[in-house]
Amino acid sequence: MSEAELINELQTHGMRMVDPTIGMESRRGGAGPSDHKAVTIGGTTVMVPVHTAPAFDSPYLVQAPDADGMAEVTKSGVSLGRLKFPQRPRFYDLKTADGIAYHKIATLHSRDVLATTVLQECIRYASRKKTCQFCSIGQSLAAGRTIAHKTPAQLAEVAKAAVELDGVKHMVMTTGTPAGKDRGAQVMVESAKAIKAAVDLPIQGQCEPPEDNVWHEHMFQAGVDNLGMHLEAVTPEVRARVMPGKAQVSLDKYFDSFKAAVRVFGRGQVSTYIIAGLGDTPEAILATSQELCKIGVYPFVVPFVPISGTPMESHPTPNADFMARILKPLSGMILRAGMSAEASKAGCAKCGACSALSIYEKLRVA
Ligand code: SF4
Repeated sequence: MSEAELINELQTHGMRMVDPTIGMESRRGGAGPSDHKAVTIGGTTVMVPVHTAPAFDSPYLVQAPDADGMAEVTKSGVSLGRLKFPQRPRFYDLKTADGIAYHKIATLHSRDVLATTVLQECIRYASRKKTCQFCSIGQSLAAGRTIAHKTPAQLAEVAKAAVELDGVKHMVMTTGTPAGKDRGAQVMVESAKAIKAAVDLPIQGQCEPPEDNVWHEHMFQAGVDNLGMHLEAVTPEVRARVMPGKAQVSLDKYFDSFKAAVRVFGRGQVSTYIIAGLGDTPEAILATSQELCKIGVYPFVVPFVPISGTPMESHPTPNADFMARILKPLSGMILRAGMSAEASKAGCAKCGACSALSIYEKLRVA
């Protein structure tokens, strides 16, 4: 089995672990994909589901690591390869002067990405009718694993420590959507300014399309290097079903905002997260991706991972074939459009750990 195939299989099925305490604390709850553990296969670090219903039944079993920290992955007793768990970062042991643990302010994703959810609350999360059915942004807050609002000063302090102690290479700042026409752009501006004043670290900001496109310029001037505005689903019926609140922001608005953002950030420095497995067909995802590539937006397609406690916790994950049908042609499409994960300055496309997409890009298997 190739590295890309093994990553694809593990990301869609998840993994069971002989010793679940090995490796860094998992991401549990929060915005976006969750309930994962970071593992390194070959030279690539990826996030693999461990605390999800499909992962509990996964045919892939990770054995206890040997003295060098390498652990075997087996299926029905047959060895498929070896992987390693990244070390717990040193900045996790620090606290702010007022006693807040740094890991409640930002966490390490993959191997060298600092990630935070600036506002852990969202206008769309309060109502079951409006909430994105796959999202668990409120869970980590309710469990006390994070704080509701990370101030610019706190983010700057943690970012500086994460660079100095753990060599993080870029930062992802997402946010729940606040009330207001900026749709989260304002907190991106305030946070990026403070972080850039403290440390030289490329930043991806993530928010909904702001009502006024002038916010793209404000975010760029504040130090945001790459902007993510996430479609999640592409077909109108699927959008209305799985994200009834966010679907009120039309696809036309997204595309208008994408075009304006590319004029400010540049081709390949604007991206969108598309979650495969919510109901869109591979053809629909590829057709939308083609439109995105044309205008210089990187379509970062990831497999759906159900998060415990969300309305979609029992929704099935897409299988590895379904993902390969999308990711193989998509990788060629992205490269032909003059974009790549590597050329991305910061963010999920650059990190790539939630999808096998960047591996397909590297292999140029399309
Ligand atoms: S792809 Fe994005 S969400 Fe996934 S681990 Fe990397 S930074 Fe985090």
